[in-house]
Amino acid sequence: MSNFNRRDFIKISSAATVSASVGLNTLANSPTVAKIVGDLAEPGASSRTPTYCEICFWQCAGWVVKDKDGRPWKIVGNEEDQHSLGRMCTRGSGGLGAYLDPDRLKKPLIRSEERGKQVFREASWEEAFNYIAKKMEAIATQYGPDRVCLFSHGCGGPFFKTLINAYGSENVAAPSYAQCRGPRQEAFGLTFGADLGSPENTDIKNAKCLVLMGSHLGENLHNTQVQEFGQAIEAGCTIITVDPRFSVAAGKSKYWLPIKPSTDLALVLSWIHCLIEEEIYNKDYVKKYTIGFEKLKAEVASYTPEWAYSITSIKPEIIRQTAREMAQAAPAVIVHPSRHVAWYGDDTQRMRGIAILNALLGGWGHRGGFYQLQKAGVPECSAPLAKKAKNNWRGQLDGKYPLASMPPANFLCDKTVEGYYKGWFVYGTNLSQCLPEPQKTEEAISKLDLLVVIDTMPAEITGWADVVLPECTYLERFDELRDKPGRRRQIALRAPAFEPLYDSKPAWWIAKNLAITMGIGAAFPWANIEELLNDQLAKLGTSMEEMKKVGVKNLGEEGALCVEDGLELHFKTKSGKIELYSQTLEDLGFDPIPKYTAHETPPDGYYRLIYGRTPTHTFGRTINNPILNQVQAENDLWVHPTVAKRWNLQNGQYVKVKNQAGVASLPIRVRITERIRNDALYMAHGFGHTDKRLSRAHLKGANDTALIDKVKVDPIMGATGFRGTFVTFDEV
Ligand code: SF4
Repeated sequence: MSNFNRRDFIKISSAATVSASVGLNTLANSPTVAKIVGDLAEPGASSRTPTYCEICFWQCAGWVVKDKDGRPWKIVGNEEDQHSLGRMCTRGSGGLGAYLDPDRLKKPLIRSEERGKQVFREASWEEAFNYIAKKMEAIATQYGPDRVCLFSHGCGGPFFKTLINAYGSENVAAPSYAQCRGPRQEAFGLTFGADLGSPENTDIKNAKCLVLMGSHLGENLHNTQVQEFGQAIEAGCTIITVDPRFSVAAGKSKYWLPIKPSTDLALVLSWIHCLIEEEIYNKDYVKKYTIGFEKLKAEVASYTPEWAYSITSIKPEIIRQTAREMAQAAPAVIVHPSRHVAWYGDDTQRMRGIAILNALLGGWGHRGGFYQLQKAGVPECSAPLAKKAKNNWRGQLDGKYPLASMPPANFLCDKTVEGYYKGWFVYGTNLSQCLPEPQKTEEAISKLDLLVVIDTMPAEITGWADVVLPECTYLERFDELRDKPGRRRQIALRAPAFEPLYDSKPAWWIAKNLAITMGIGAAFPWANIEELLNDQLAKLGTSMEEMKKVGVKNLGEEGALCVEDGLELHFKTKSGKIELYSQTLEDLGFDPIPKYTAHETPPDGYYRLIYGRTPTHTFGRTINNPILNQVQAENDLWVHPTVAKRWNLQNGQYVKVKNQAGVASLPIRVRITERIRNDALYMAHGFGHTDKRLSRAHLKGANDTALIDKVKVDPIMGATGFRGTFVTFDEV
């Protein structure tokens, strides 16, 4: 197997930097951009402004560097930052494209024809705010303020949360929960009494064995983890990758287990069986910290590798061998919890299986396993007008999803279809491309009295809005201090490198001024965000002046990260122990220990649709970025050679695929490869935009989300399973 090392990562970053300069060259030919950039920036930095990246949620801290004439030159990592480790990834290096994109939203827009026709008139901010305030007042009077929801993704989200809390609603959802990482959050919470954090608390660089199940590390360029992945490989870490597809990570692995899709839980339960049967689990750790071991042992007794082979297609000796590899490395072993885990509708139980496997290996709290997160603790900005909503989302669940710790976005959508919710604020998330069954999202929107979308770029969801509010990009604004838990108590500052272009405004300004128009301005008890930041920084013993010089700051007094450093393990579960057996789940009528249940398999001529990430893009948000789009403009459909032969497909030809309901994709280019099983097709997520205002992304590649059907919802916390879709070829 070839090695992926630190140098490889640097190569990727360098490639991105090259592409960034190519992008700026080409962009300068655009009349709009030429006005902004002027002559091309020349190497030779004159100033740098601290930022943290918003191209994805990892929030790597870096510097926006300008040339001697003040023109944008490049974005580089901050050497002191625990997220970037001094390097931006491909996408982060292309962040200037977000600022320079001539397709950006430029003025507030008010819909002038029926919804979805994308016909708007430009408006002043005052007119847009008055329009929204009037509609919000009408909703509050007629139905109550708790009929308004916020869907949010990104750094400005907390400002809009403050706004709708002050208005009287607690319905704040994020598709990153029920459409992504929610099941693992609840499963690890049930098992260890703790969340994994974001970035996750995985000590990859010190791991001796790393197990990746459907995790696209290296394709999803989660910066810190990819760099640590390279370090771990160099240090001889054993990588075990479980994936129906020979992913980048599989290429760096000692073991690639091309599992039959939808059977991962069978493999996990069989690994648990092997550890217990061969008595190679971490006995001291299990004895000291867990409860429910005997019940677990009895439950998994029948999950032999021979049983699992018939389900997963992974040979029994490989299952045993990989279980032994994990045991040998323990406790420096991580069975990675992944991130997007909303797959089949029983995802909390699958993630419980992974949590239990980690518990048997003893990695939680140990070096090379899961470290203890440290948090800076930025003082909260009080919102004196925040009201307790009379009827919050939980009251509407009617007994469903009892362990949902936030409202599933799909649930709010379903209730809107029923006519219950009347107003939506959508901040920084293209709901049309991230909720499954987009037809249902459109039906919900048709029932609304008000849809407000706040974003930097047009997207399918803005086409449905009543009011569109243009946010400026992260390079043009202050935001809240970054205070993400990590190995260190560290904060990062985002300061504006440029004045906002066009008539765009920062999220804090939009939320505060809309609140003032609505008569609830006291929820924002500061004149502007600099006043808020100055106050918070002073309480943390630093200042704006210092932060502008350093970008990130460690606040000291860090606790131990792991037992080897003196950490004492405590678990905030009901029992105070790691719960291999969950009384909470049993009391709610769910399996206290995960059981395997089979999922439907594709009928003849159909293939399971699986999807993943590409190192160049973040979901659909960056496809139109003029720099990143030059690196990758469309996605491919991975097809196994036997499937290609059956359908007489050629490499590079365009095809459409359709699901069992007859919904067809846009044309997508075929890539024939043995790197995918013959019962599945694969495409990268985020492509296939249909909004004409995205001049580079429009109709490029196919959108996997548009095909997702037969969605199963996790009864424990409401996540929507995205991997139950079977597709066949439509037009060849
Ligand atoms: S991982 Fe890349 S895109 Fe994401 S925040 Fe870091 S540099 Fe930006």
